[in-house]
Amino acid sequence: MHFGKVVTRLPRLFNKPIWVGSILCLLATGPSPAFAAAIQIITTTSDLKSLTEAVGGTHVAVTSLATPGTNAETFQPHPQDLQKLQAAAMVVRVGLDYDLWLDGLLKRTGRTELMRRGKAHVDASYGIALLEIRSASLDANSGHGHGGGNPHYWLDPGNAEIISANILDGLRRIDPDNAPTYAANRERFVGLLRAQQQVWKTRLAAFAGKPVLAYHDSWAYFARSFRLHIVDLIEPKPGIPPSPARLAGLIKKMQDERVLAIIKQPFDPDAMPGLLAQKTGAKIVVLASSVGSLPQAGDYFSMMDFNVATLAAAYAPGP
Ligand SMILES: [Zn+2]
Repeated sequence: MHFGKVVTRLPRLFNKPIWVGSILCLLATGPSPAFAAAIQIITTTSDLKSLTEAVGGTHVAVTSLATPGTNAETFQPHPQDLQKLQAAAMVVRVGLDYDLWLDGLLKRTGRTELMRRGKAHVDASYGIALLEIRSASLDANSGHGHGGGNPHYWLDPGNAEIISANILDGLRRIDPDNAPTYAANRERFVGLLRAQQQVWKTRLAAFAGKPVLAYHDSWAYFARSFRLHIVDLIEPKPGIPPSPARLAGLIKKMQDERVLAIIKQPFDPDAMPGLLAQKTGAKIVVLASSVGSLPQAGDYFSMMDFNVATLAAAYAPGP
């Protein structure tokens, strides 16, 4: 019951300063030049959009190239994405091997400030302690997007502090006049995040070490943060579906280790988790691996709230 209140309250709390700021601005002077000319920022994912809005507040208008609810790891750019980048003042990317498709688009803009090492380029992974770094480069059999370390680092709420610091550095470079506002926005965000992390950790503390299975290797950082035990993955490699022999092995492993939950992203296939659930009695738990991938995950806070509450409900003893 207490948790339900937190779920509904936090996003409102979080948005309030933006609304209040906008209304006061309009009442005082009409649409101010600063408000009318919000800085156009492009992110590769909806998670980075939410975090950039948290730091940029009313000064920024943020667009994610990957549509919420789709798999950003298999994203195919459209011609209009190039137009969006032509008009952008800054780009924010996941980095590693996750959104390599961005580099080709940036090259076509001809705008060096947006490209790697440019002042308007933010690689959000800078300073993140990466998990699962592999020395081998990607090849045809290694799956997609995980060659340079597991790229799903935003699912550890502690890492959102680092991501938002990287975004703040970028905004300071391109808009130094508003740097104090951006710093204050981030400080407020981090304060809320730290408080909420305690709530989330308390909520899942009783389930520490519980064995779970996951479809895609999206949850390594989430699991470390909340002390979940991911015993195995359905995909043998990122983006590669399992063979019948692998599924048979997973059924045995799930029975041996008493796995009661299978975590999947909304866009992961249903058939193989469904088969494993049917054979073992485990529950399928659909969690939001990115902002907007489920209706309940409207921003960064509500995504984490939803995932924690959903997992806790799945592990709770049934009626
Ligand atoms: Zn992945």
